[in-house]
Amino acid sequence: MAHSHKTIVVSTSWDDGDRSDLRLAEMLSANGVAGTFYIPIEPFRAGRELSAQQITDLVSGGFEIGGHTVSHRSLTALPPEVQAREVTDCKRILEDRLGSEVQSFCYPNGRLNQTTVRCVAQAGYQNARSTRLLRTSLQFPRFEMPTTLQAYPHRGSAYLRNTVKGKNLAGLADYALRLRHARSWVELGKTLFDRVLQDGGFWHLYGHSWELQDLDLWSQLEDLLAYVARRPEVLYLTNAGVYRALSLGTAPGAVGVGYENPARS
Ligand SMILES: [Zn+2]
Repeated sequence: MAHSHKTIVVSTSWDDGDRSDLRLAEMLSANGVAGTFYIPIEPFRAGRELSAQQITDLVSGGFEIGGHTVSHRSLTALPPEVQAREVTDCKRILEDRLGSEVQSFCYPNGRLNQTTVRCVAQAGYQNARSTRLLRTSLQFPRFEMPTTLQAYPHRGSAYLRNTVKGKNLAGLADYALRLRHARSWVELGKTLFDRVLQDGGFWHLYGHSWELQDLDLWSQLEDLLAYVARRPEVLYLTNAGVYRALSLGTAPGAVGVGYENPARS
């Protein structure tokens, strides 16, 4: 990997379309950090869902809207034809509401298999996000975009489980040897950002605004966002923007071209 210059990309993505997304969007805007909001068609929490107008306003504010199925059921538990309907219908319905293409998809509960990935590809999405943590490489399969960190105070065991499930042995060793010393998720995020800043790579924060609200993580998030914001050498992109930059070569790095090769890391 002999790049003449290093590429540093920051993206954030937020799932479930809760009304607290509005507070989150304000915080992201104030820091100049881009974001993708993944929204299921049926309310994740009844009475707390974003209105059609609020979703349109997010787009006007420069954010991306991505698909998150119709019913937010784990796709891997469903028959293939139901999976196909879940991903296709949510794309069509969101596109009708927004009047623009929906390019990114996110798997409910992070559950995916080869059938799921094939459905997402056939529905016409350009990329999809997983819930794999502790990743900072700009090389990943296009339907398994990884994340670096969740805005959530996980226990150490959760990171270890996640790396094992994702067959991320380097991440497992890294966490066990070094990252576990971080005193909080915010400090972990800063440590990983410092690395990406130094070596190049992809820093991707994901989370749920309803969780920020329930656990009152707002000031911690503000601390982390302020830390990663306004760095002249960083590209701040939505999830679709990351995929576009990688596939156009704006940012060096190779995106996997299909679901046939999902295990590359
Ligand atoms: Zn979700």
